[in-house]
Amino acid sequence: MKRAVITGGAGFLGSHLCERLLAEGYEVLCVDNLLTGRTENIQHLLGRADFQFLQHDVSRPFEVDGPVDAVLHFASPASPIDYLELPIQTLKVGSLGTHNALGLAKAKRARFLLASTSEVYGDPKEHPQKETYWGNVNPIGPRGVYDEAKRFAEAMAMAYHRTHGLEVRIVRIFNTYGPRMRVRDGRVVPAFIPQALAGEPITVFGEGKQTRSFCFVSDLVEGIWRLLNSEATTPVNIGNPHEMTILEFAETIRAAVGSASPIVFKPLPVDDPQTRQPDITLARTLLGWEPKVSLKEGLESTIRYFREALAR
Ligand code: NAD
Ligand code: UDP
Repeated sequence: MKRAVITGGAGFLGSHLCERLLAEGYEVLCVDNLLTGRTENIQHLLGRADFQFLQHDVSRPFEVDGPVDAVLHFASPASPIDYLELPIQTLKVGSLGTHNALGLAKAKRARFLLASTSEVYGDPKEHPQKETYWGNVNPIGPRGVYDEAKRFAEAMAMAYHRTHGLEVRIVRIFNTYGPRMRVRDGRVVPAFIPQALAGEPITVFGEGKQTRSFCFVSDLVEGIWRLLNSEATTPVNIGNPHEMTILEFAETIRAAVGSASPIVFKPLPVDDPQTRQPDITLARTLLGWEPKVSLKEGLESTIRYFREALAR
């Protein structure tokens, strides 16, 4: 049986990945300090013999007994609200945490997969964004703590690959949504859906002209699984190229919920990227991957989840 360590495994994406790796026959060790994650996300896995949970801050060194075949490093605050509140923890988990996770992979001769982000492209001057684009990031702006931590993490992963021959995979994840996002974690989906469900004003930042491209979590997990098993050493974008403005997105959610919420406009956060759309040619070519879940289907499932979560 193969064994994977998933840092950040009690978070939104990490918990879905734990499930997928278990379903693929892996034994899974989830390492998470519950900074932005929750045991609720992995509650249904906790009794299983092939699943272990270690509550630990991966920015501090840690050791794992026994063999490990894959280290998937997903620990990091991911919502702008979270990383603006936790700037130093975000920088530490992207740097020290990545170093520790790489050290574990090297010691165990395991494959290392890094959860990177479309934020490495910053406020992009190239559209759509290809993996070859170096990005336009403000290193000292408030979002820089996240963007630069991830850019450092990519550099560190590539250095381990070049210096130690470590098997490295880097996924640049574009805005992904779905069940298990924390209600009102600050990201747009957990903001808009609960607002629409409660009949509260939907808070669009700026004029809502900025664009994003939203990928449903099951599509992302499939892409990550394929990447892990591929020979792609350089970063690969995984995201849904279906781009829309945030105002259109607010209207789409309002209609999908059947809500009468008004749309209100709030100030645009500093350095909020104006556009974002993945070029997924590489994922199509190398992994035979493309997203399958339409926005309509993905939103239906996510709205159902938030309806139940809010009722609890
Ligand atoms: P999340 O906040 O739900 O999950 C992050 C998890 O990491 C949480 O469980 C948190 O407790 C844990 N964590 C944070 N710091 C830690 C530390 N020092 N030690 C141990 N655990 C720690 O967010 P998510 O959306 O699931 O994001 C997961 C990963 O994917 C992050 O690395 C994020 O940067 C990346 N990502 C996500 C998206 C997205 O759209 N969801 C986009 C790009 C990149
Ligand atoms: N946004 C918004 N209202 C909200 C939360 C977010 O208009 O209540 C906007 C935000 O300014 C950004 C987009 O939605 O332009 C996506 O924000 P999110 O925090 O989900 O992710 P980002 O892509 O900025 O990392």
